[in-house]
Amino acid sequence: MERYVTADNQVTKYVHDDGSETAIKTTSSCANFYNTITDKIEPVMVDRNKFSVFISSSVGCPINCKFCYLTVKKFPYHKLTQEQIIKNVKDALTEEIKHKPELKEKFMKLSWMGMGDALLLEPLDIKRISKKIFSWAFKNNITTGVDGLDISTTLPKKPSDFAKQMKYLNDNLLYNYPLNPTIPYNRSKVRIFYSLHSISNRYKLIPTLNSNVLSDIEFMKLLKENFSYNLDILFHHMFLDGVNDTYEETESVINILNELVPYSELRILRYNKCENSPYKESTKFDELVKMFASRMNHVKYQISSGSEIKAACGMFLMKTIK
Ligand code: SF4
Repeated sequence: MERYVTADNQVTKYVHDDGSETAIKTTSSCANFYNTITDKIEPVMVDRNKFSVFISSSVGCPINCKFCYLTVKKFPYHKLTQEQIIKNVKDALTEEIKHKPELKEKFMKLSWMGMGDALLLEPLDIKRISKKIFSWAFKNNITTGVDGLDISTTLPKKPSDFAKQMKYLNDNLLYNYPLNPTIPYNRSKVRIFYSLHSISNRYKLIPTLNSNVLSDIEFMKLLKENFSYNLDILFHHMFLDGVNDTYEETESVINILNELVPYSELRILRYNKCENSPYKESTKFDELVKMFASRMNHVKYQISSGSEIKAACGMFLMKTIK
């Protein structure tokens, strides 16, 4: 297993012997404010006493999103067993705690945002793996409690038991661990992030799925309704130059989300161009953020931690090796 660390020491990436990656971030959470001097919506860091573990569900990824560095680099794909996925996270955390013993006093978030799409696994398996990792980390004093569990997905499948398994998982976290007191009281412990990026052109960015975005959004609505109580649904979005950054398309995304899922949050990601990628971030980024923020109730954009981070989907290429 190799260990890479960003210059600011806030992100560590472990490359396992099987080729998959686990990243651990101690960066603060991000909030936004309107800066009247720059006339821009800007991010500000908020320390919530937590760290995040980015778990890989496979080596490489068969979804082949065209903007993802795994696709650009033609990274080979193969499946991992549940045991391998769990072992990789345990190995990474066991090593990381030696370098950063202060993690023991922090709350842990598990983010299914590494290599692969979590929903290529069965929801039952996502639940089992997540439970085992939290239980092991808590018993072994890796963490003081739970900050939550985030699942990012392009929605390659729409499993009928997704809501049920996520509800079990949410309750398991809620009733069995100390919870980070900084989590807003009405936020679900399990959150689902749908990789939106476009409504009219999403099939061009993720051609392997060729999905119907409106039917995906309907599924997310149903998922929330079947969860029994509040399930946070968030949409990941990036602005790519000349691809999805027209005012017309932005207007249409705002209208559709406001109409169908007005309670949801739009999470805008910065696009970190990697070598040979045909894409770059939109030059209209600030204007588009302002458009979203003025028309939607819940919008946030994130800071990428460390200039070495060069990838989408929670994966990081590092320059510094320690
Ligand atoms: S962005 Fe995520 S789902 Fe898409 S190819 Fe990369 S790892 Fe897979």
